[in-house]
Amino acid sequence: MSAEISSVAAARTLSFDDHDREVAGMRYVYPVLSRRAEGVSLGINLNPNNACNWHCAYCQVPDLKRGAAPAIDLSRLEHELSSMLEAMLHGDFLHRFAPEGMRILRDMAFSGNGEPTSSGQFADAVSLVGGIMERFGLVGRIPLRLITNGSYMSKGYVRQGLSRMADLRGEVWIKVDAADPASAKRINGVRLDADRLFEQVATSAMHCPTWIQTCMVAWDEQEPGEELLEPYLALLRRFATDGLPLEGVLLYSLARPSCQRESSHVSPLPLTWLDSLADVIRAIGFSVKVF
Ligand code: SF4
Repeated sequence: MSAEISSVAAARTLSFDDHDREVAGMRYVYPVLSRRAEGVSLGINLNPNNACNWHCAYCQVPDLKRGAAPAIDLSRLEHELSSMLEAMLHGDFLHRFAPEGMRILRDMAFSGNGEPTSSGQFADAVSLVGGIMERFGLVGRIPLRLITNGSYMSKGYVRQGLSRMADLRGEVWIKVDAADPASAKRINGVRLDADRLFEQVATSAMHCPTWIQTCMVAWDEQEPGEELLEPYLALLRRFATDGLPLEGVLLYSLARPSCQRESSHVSPLPLTWLDSLADVIRAIGFSVKVF
């Protein structure tokens, strides 16, 4: 294990609640214990400046500000990712910092403190990560994911990055929380409508296997009403009737407290509520995973 990893991580043990991107003392790479995946996820954070063009009410990024990713030091990213994979796959990192039964690397994800595709170096970062995955024999063994709000899908470099991800057998998780402008403004902090969302999701699905990722929350303790659910379900129906090749819908609610000023408004929904919505979505024709 590199001194860089051991010196910082030694003071910490990975836990389910600890999604601190600086847990390993690195700028771009952070390990997270995932109960859902029953192992460790390796995150790649292209937004160490905590900047995103959206402002989701449930966002767990501390000190979130509006903006885009800064210039990425690709050689530092390469060094950090190689060192971390070396420590996890050939060293004792997992044994030392993950509990028994969870000592396995399950996936890697572009997911960090902001929108990864706001980096103009996104496609280069995908190529670099792909090369490292090949070196460690990980292509096809663990998924490479992009967690995105989808708002940069019209950019050529994002489409390039998605095509490279498809070659690496990767997948996209793209946000669709609400399809009507008023709900999107309240929940995602942006101007958004069903046509724009349709275009973004279609572009993603045409370039790389894509899951829709939907976070539903209670607002001032009120469950989402028809004004949100009807346009949301209408958009899913449109995806289905247009035959978009989607993998399905990932449905979840608030897992940890929001770090935003809207935190007092949002709270998690009961699993039974999510399960009922999942049944409606399945009836439209999509597979749904609730977590
Ligand atoms: S898109 Fe992601 S990073 Fe950006 S505000 Fe929403 S939850 Fe936070």
